[in-house]
Amino acid sequence: MLVLAVLIAAVVLLIWNGSEIFQQLSFARKGLEADLKVAVTALTLNVALILFGWRRYVDLIHEAEARKEGEARAALIASTDGMTGLLNRKGFADRGEELRQQAVEQGQQLIIFSLQLNRFKAINDRHGYDVGDKALRMIAASLEQLSADSHLVARLAGDEFAIALAAPAEKVLEAEQHGGRLLRAVTRPMEAEGRLVQVGAYVGIAASNPAEGQIPDLLRRADIALDRAKSSCSARPVWFDESMERALIVHSEIEQGIRYGLDHGQFIPYFEPQVDLLTGEIIGFEVLARWNHALSGLVEPDRFIPVAEEHGLIGRLSEQVILAALTQAASWDPSIKLSVNISPTQLTDSWLAQRIVRLLAEAGFPAERLVVEITESSLFADLELARAIVTSLKNQGIRLALDDFGTGFSSLAHLRSLPFDVIKIDRSFVSTLSTDPESAAIVRAVTTLAEAIRVPVTVEGIEDAATHAAVAGFGCAVGQGWYFGKPMSGDQAAALLRSRQATPADEQPAARQAG
Ligand code: C2E
Ligand code: CA
Ligand code: CA
Repeated sequence: MLVLAVLIAAVVLLIWNGSEIFQQLSFARKGLEADLKVAVTALTLNVALILFGWRRYVDLIHEAEARKEGEARAALIASTDGMTGLLNRKGFADRGEELRQQAVEQGQQLIIFSLQLNRFKAINDRHGYDVGDKALRMIAASLEQLSADSHLVARLAGDEFAIALAAPAEKVLEAEQHGGRLLRAVTRPMEAEGRLVQVGAYVGIAASNPAEGQIPDLLRRADIALDRAKSSCSARPVWFDESMERALIVHSEIEQGIRYGLDHGQFIPYFEPQVDLLTGEIIGFEVLARWNHALSGLVEPDRFIPVAEEHGLIGRLSEQVILAALTQAASWDPSIKLSVNISPTQLTDSWLAQRIVRLLAEAGFPAERLVVEITESSLFADLELARAIVTSLKNQGIRLALDDFGTGFSSLAHLRSLPFDVIKIDRSFVSTLSTDPESAAIVRAVTTLAEAIRVPVTVEGIEDAATHAAVAGFGCAVGQGWYFGKPMSGDQAAALLRSRQATPADEQPAARQAG
């Protein structure tokens, strides 16, 4: 249209100027040579001006088209994952918003799948990045293949993907089957760059009325469900439900509380007596952390230790508790030993031995009176590092106990892999000793085995006289449990020790009155 208008304008201009030029030509014929020259020059100028204007106009159109194309390309790059060609997080949010509005108009539900690969890093580590990249592209392709054109498929980060779709309310439950298909597709063995590779994956699903929430909210819910799928090692997609969100809030409140508690000295040691099963003498205490919470009172470790471990706070927490315990016990009877618990994550800290030695020095507590309790699961993360830490501790004279023996993957190999000084038989066998012949057989067998390798046994969870008599009969050397005394404060433990010193040995009561 515009082109036509410009052409018409050019022709009109030519005719207009042309008529003037003819007039001038007639003058020329009458012999006015000079005027003719002027007229020809004017004509040439007019033609040049028109051509120049036309060229400029065409250039402008091309420029506008190129800019539009460039902007479209930049927008595509900004919303696409370069490696797989899927949407990236931004693209997923933008296109997701369009999908959400469509779903609102059509009265449909919005469903989001959050999918994360498992053990993907191992492929990079083992086969190199080329194979890893190829595998990612193949996984992206299979996700796209399973998705309809209306579905949005995105790679949000390294090994995280998301799929969004709209569906009628009555079809929402079918999403679980679709999630299953996605899982099967990405976990199939594939050949990437000539290597056979296979990854694991987890899927979380969230669905909602699109009028009630934005895409990022729904994605967050799918992620919460994904976390649940991961923590429960679920081979099937996991649906989001409200209780997961509440648990997460409680979890994050506990985490904040732990940080506050650490800054305000709220983590304190409690002491559980350990007794020589033959003489009834207290020979030591196991140190157990308690959270002296301003509102909830004394909180047991099961509520906070796992959260502290997850958020990397267990090292600081343990150090506070151990230092306070060593400081209190430094003035007690010098024959009394202290056993402290070390979490698996602490055994991945290559400075752990130095930290413990520093605590001993700070409290003025002799290394020979300290026992460090570790569980077998601690040894899985990095056995070599665990061995190095344990060797440093042993070189200082600190003793080593294998905690919770009989649970998890107990094996003789573990027993022999590190120089343990004590084996602690788990409470679960001891509490069923009188009712379950198998438990009794296990306690007896472990005690015999320990005797053979000359490592004494400590029995946990002795709650009554019958159990005490039974384990003493099996030849177990040391025991602990509520029969001898529940975990108690440092002051109570010191008072208990003083009262026992004041009483002749053969008249000493068990510590069970304490606590
Ligand atoms: P654990 O090391 O196996 O500690 C023994 C647990 O059994 C303690 O629970 C103790 O109170 C309980 N117990 C002892 N005797 C009896 C009994 O006769 N009957 C019954 N029913 N229970 C008994 P607690 O204090 O709740 O500790 C739980 C776990 O928390 C401990 O298990 C230990 O793994 C961990 N923990 C405690 N304090 C610390 C700490 O300072 N650092 C680390 N890393 N972990 C700790
Ligand atoms: Ca323990
Ligand atoms: Ca234990």
